[in-house]
Amino acid sequence: MRVLEEILSYNEKFVAEKKYEEFTTTKFPNKKMVILTCMDTRLLELLPKALNVGNGDVKIVKNAGALVTHPFGSIMRSLLVAVYQLQAEEVLVIGHHDCGMSGMKPEAVIEEMKIRGIKEETLDTLCYSGIDIKEWFHGFDNVTQSVAHSADMIKKHPLLPKDVPVHGLVIDPATGKLDLVVNGYQA
Ligand SMILES: [Zn+2]
Repeated sequence: MRVLEEILSYNEKFVAEKKYEEFTTTKFPNKKMVILTCMDTRLLELLPKALNVGNGDVKIVKNAGALVTHPFGSIMRSLLVAVYQLQAEEVLVIGHHDCGMSGMKPEAVIEEMKIRGIKEETLDTLCYSGIDIKEWFHGFDNVTQSVAHSADMIKKHPLLPKDVPVHGLVIDPATGKLDLVVNGYQA
């Protein structure tokens, strides 16, 4: 069985056996928070456990690197929706050590694209259209600085209410230990 078939077959049993019952909750986060963090596999269960949050407690927005790359992109929009429509009152940005976006080389990504069949002319066309692929795939050099920068961008966003604290933290993907980078109550 391939992955999709495996998932669908498991899912049939999951629903039939009412395994969903223990997850029953609402769309509003009990702990009134929205977390922006990285899509790293090691954080999937570790991060909620390490923060003592469970189903229904928080909104979690994820992307590669827990980055806000654009003030009017989908990440910022999600955070604002959480605040204005879903009762989130605080924002937490949680980066992590050993992140794939740390020191990521755009050249290596582009090289891999070519190996996987993306044509040079496609890259050229995008380039002529004003899309800077290299810049787009640029990661960060220092996770602490990156978290501080993202928290700052969110905090200073013209559409974020001034009374919303924005915290910045870095988590260890092995132990779950959190280091505080920005205390949003003091900002
Ligand atoms: Zn990461």
